[in-house]
Amino acid sequence: MTYYIKSKKIFKEDEILLNYALKIKNKKIVDFVKNSKLSPEDEIIDYQDKIIIPGMIDLHIHGAVGKDVMDGDYEALNEISKYLAKTGVTSFLATTLTAPMSKIKKALINISQAMKKGVEGAKILGSYLEGPYLTEEHKGAHPTEFMRELNLAEIKGLLELSNDTIKVFALAPEKKNSHKIIKFLEKNNIKTTMAHTNASYEEASAAVESGLELATHTFNGMKGLHHREPGALGAVLNNKDVYSELIADNIHVHPAALELLLKIKGSDKVILISDCMRAGGLSDGEYMLGELKVLVKNSIARTEAGSLAGSTLELRDAVINIKEAADIDLYTALKMVTIVPARLLGMDKKIGSIEKGKNANIAVVDEMMNIYSTVIDGKIVYRK
Ligand SMILES: [Zn+2]
Repeated sequence: MTYYIKSKKIFKEDEILLNYALKIKNKKIVDFVKNSKLSPEDEIIDYQDKIIIPGMIDLHIHGAVGKDVMDGDYEALNEISKYLAKTGVTSFLATTLTAPMSKIKKALINISQAMKKGVEGAKILGSYLEGPYLTEEHKGAHPTEFMRELNLAEIKGLLELSNDTIKVFALAPEKKNSHKIIKFLEKNNIKTTMAHTNASYEEASAAVESGLELATHTFNGMKGLHHREPGALGAVLNNKDVYSELIADNIHVHPAALELLLKIKGSDKVILISDCMRAGGLSDGEYMLGELKVLVKNSIARTEAGSLAGSTLELRDAVINIKEAADIDLYTALKMVTIVPARLLGMDKKIGSIEKGKNANIAVVDEMMNIYSTVIDGKIVYRK
């Protein structure tokens, strides 16, 4: 089926089109047509003064609406996927947590099966393995009793049972064997990210040398910058090729630090993530994040020990927060949830921007990022 979505503005990858319609045919974006050139016979959805943006990509999300990726069942992933579609997100990486190995395996298998079966909302691009190869010093909400040393045979096993759906693999670079593992993952087309790490500047930089490409929630779960020991954070800031995840909820990171990161890395190396947990989209209360009890008060999730435990953030609010903190425009802010994560994953030929030939993954928004519609593979999955 062929139809058009028209509005005042379309955010293309390198320009903003004014008064154009997007032609969608068989799951793809096939053309841009001036609104004045549309004919009365065409099937047109008119969004008037709204903005058509590329569908957002949530690179790092654990759960929402009472469900968690670690639940390990289809229903959990499907509910998270439907929730995300309502918030303008069209694809995501289902993110695991440190837990007993049997639970991690179950979650990975479930993700791979759900990808095959398909979900009703935002598409699952693959899994993001966060834990168990992390360090105690910056554990956050990861239970230390299940943390493990890096073991190539074990990791090969995980790749196999996941049916090669792992896209991002987190590890603490100071761990033994990390270089061997990073090189192995790179060969298998998996991005390594440093996470929950106590690595020194030298250790983190050496991991980058070996092929590590991403920093998990930059600032959080890593040694901060000291002028005599710049730490993992210093290495992330000083290595221009490393992508930086950022939880822009103004709780995990101060607005001034958002601005600072953006000044140093530039908007083509920062990726806004939600790191959302089970309580996303729900009210305050007591929840489980993987194996840990978490209390959500004023939308802030903390473990009993007081550590921040994921967020309840929606990506669209992250976009607004960084736009305000760094005084940038919406167009630039949106790159950090669309084309930049798509590039990191090597999927930018298909998703991440509005271009001819790409998958018709879009959202319709206003300047405040209220969502009016979400289209995934040409199908309207949400309409306000
Ligand atoms: Zn984390």
